[in-house]
Amino acid sequence: MNLRTTQPWWLLRNGLLHDYPPLEHDIDCDVAVVGGGLTGALIADRLSRAGMSLTVIDSRSIGEGSTAASTALLQYEVDQPLRQLSKSIGLEAAVRVYRLGSAAIDALEVLSREIACRFARRPSLQLASRPTHSPRLQHECGLRQQHGFACHYLGRHELVQRYGFDHAGALFTEVAGELDPYRLTHGLLRRALGRGVRVFDRTLVTSYRSQGDTVTLSTDRSHDVRAKRVIFATGYEALEFGPRRLTTLKSTFAIVTDPIPDLSRWPDRCLIWETSLPYLYLRTTDDQRIIVGGGDIDGADPLVRDRLLPRKANWLESRLRRLLPWLTFDIAFAWAGAFAETADSLPMIGPARGFPNAHFALGYGGNGVTFAAIAADVLCGLMTDGDHIDAALFSPDRVAPRK
Ligand SMILES: Cc1cc2nc3c(=O)[nH]c(=O)nc-3n(C[C@H](O)[C@H](O)[C@H](O)COP(=O)(O)OP(=O)(O)OC[C@H]3O[C@@H](n4cnc5c(N)ncnc54)[C@H](O)[C@@H]3O)c2cc1C
Repeated sequence: MNLRTTQPWWLLRNGLLHDYPPLEHDIDCDVAVVGGGLTGALIADRLSRAGMSLTVIDSRSIGEGSTAASTALLQYEVDQPLRQLSKSIGLEAAVRVYRLGSAAIDALEVLSREIACRFARRPSLQLASRPTHSPRLQHECGLRQQHGFACHYLGRHELVQRYGFDHAGALFTEVAGELDPYRLTHGLLRRALGRGVRVFDRTLVTSYRSQGDTVTLSTDRSHDVRAKRVIFATGYEALEFGPRRLTTLKSTFAIVTDPIPDLSRWPDRCLIWETSLPYLYLRTTDDQRIIVGGGDIDGADPLVRDRLLPRKANWLESRLRRLLPWLTFDIAFAWAGAFAETADSLPMIGPARGFPNAHFALGYGGNGVTFAAIAADVLCGLMTDGDHIDAALFSPDRVAPRK
C-alpha cells in the first residue's frame, strides 16, 4: 500500500537516523514484531524491558511508514467525544478509554526524558466551529469534569480575550502534548538493540503460518522467522493479515510553515482543533514552525490523494491565515497520508479469532500515537501474565457499533 506522499515532514527534518540490515538468515525468537513504526518500536521497548527475546522486521526502512507522516498531536480524547463514546460502549468504559489516553501521554513523557524526541506538554483547545456546537462542548466539558478530567469551557468573550479567536466557544483541556514520532521510533529501537533485540528492515513478511506452538513468517528475502508468537504492528497495511471488518480507509493532508520568529501571541502553544468533521488540527514545533492538518477525504487511493495535495495545501494555508490573521508565514512543505478509522474510534489490540499465536497492535483513528503506547502496555500484560485489565476494550473481536 502507498501510505504517504514522498516528503513527510519528520523524514525531511531528521534525515536517515540509523541503518538496519535486511534479514539474511533464518532466525528464532520468542516474539516476532512485524512493523518497525512507532507502534512496533514502543512494543519492542516494552517487551525487551520485560526480558523477552524479540525480532522486529519492517518492509520499509525503519519509521518510514505512516510514522514519518504523522503530525503527532497527543490527545487523550479519541475521535468521539466522551458523551458520544459512552453511548456506544457505556460510560464506565468510555471514561476508562479517556483515562488510558491521558496515562499514555504521561508514559510518552517519561520515555522522552530518556530519548530526545522533541516532546512537549501542551494544553489543547477545541473550537466550536459553529455557534450551535457550543452547547455540545459545554455538555462535554461538564461530563469530563464530573469524571476528574482537568478542562474548562471558554465562552466567546473569554476566548477572544485570551486567544484572539472569534468563535462561539471552546473546550480547554490541560493534558495534551506533541512529539517527533520518527525520532522516538529510532531512539526506542536503538535502545532495544542494546537489550539484544534484532531489527531488520527492507524485509517484507509475505506469509504467516501457525503450527502448534510455533509461528513461521516467510519473507521476500527467502529467510524465515520462527517465533512462539507474532505481533502485527503493521499500521494501515495490516489488512493483508488482520481483522478487516472494523475499518474504513481515509486520506489526510498536512502542511508545515517555515520557522516563525515570534509565536508569543499563540498562548501556551496549545494544540488547536475544532468540532466540525473532518476537523482542522494545528500544533507548533520545537523549531518555531506550525503544522496544520486536515481536509480528510474518504479512501486511500494514492493517485487521488496526490492529485489533491496542492489544492488541499492551499486550503489548509488559507484556514491558518483566517484563524491567525496576525501571523506572517510561508509554507515550507506539504504532504499527505492514508489513515484508517474504526467504527467505535478505538484501536484493535490483542489476539483475534482465526489468527492463532498472533496479536495485533493497530492504532486506527486520530490517536495513533497514544494508541501505540496503550498497545505496548496491553500486549506486555498479555504476553507476560496472559491477561490485561483493558484487553477486552480493544479486542479486535469486539462487536463494534455502527457509526
Ligand atoms: C498525515 C497523518 C497525520 C497523523 N496525525 C496524527 C496525530 O496528530 N496524532 C496521532 O496520534 N496520530 C496521527 N496519525 C496517525 C499515526 O501517525 C499513526 O497511527 C502511527 O504513526 C502509526 O504507527 P504504526 O507504527 O502503527 O504504523 P507505521 O508507521 O505505518 O508502521 C507500520 C510498519 O509496518 C510495516 N509493514 C506493514 N506490513 C508489513 C509486512 N507484511 N512485512 C513487513 N513490514 C510490514 C510498514 O512498512 C510500516 O513501516 C497521523 C497519520 C497521518 C498519515
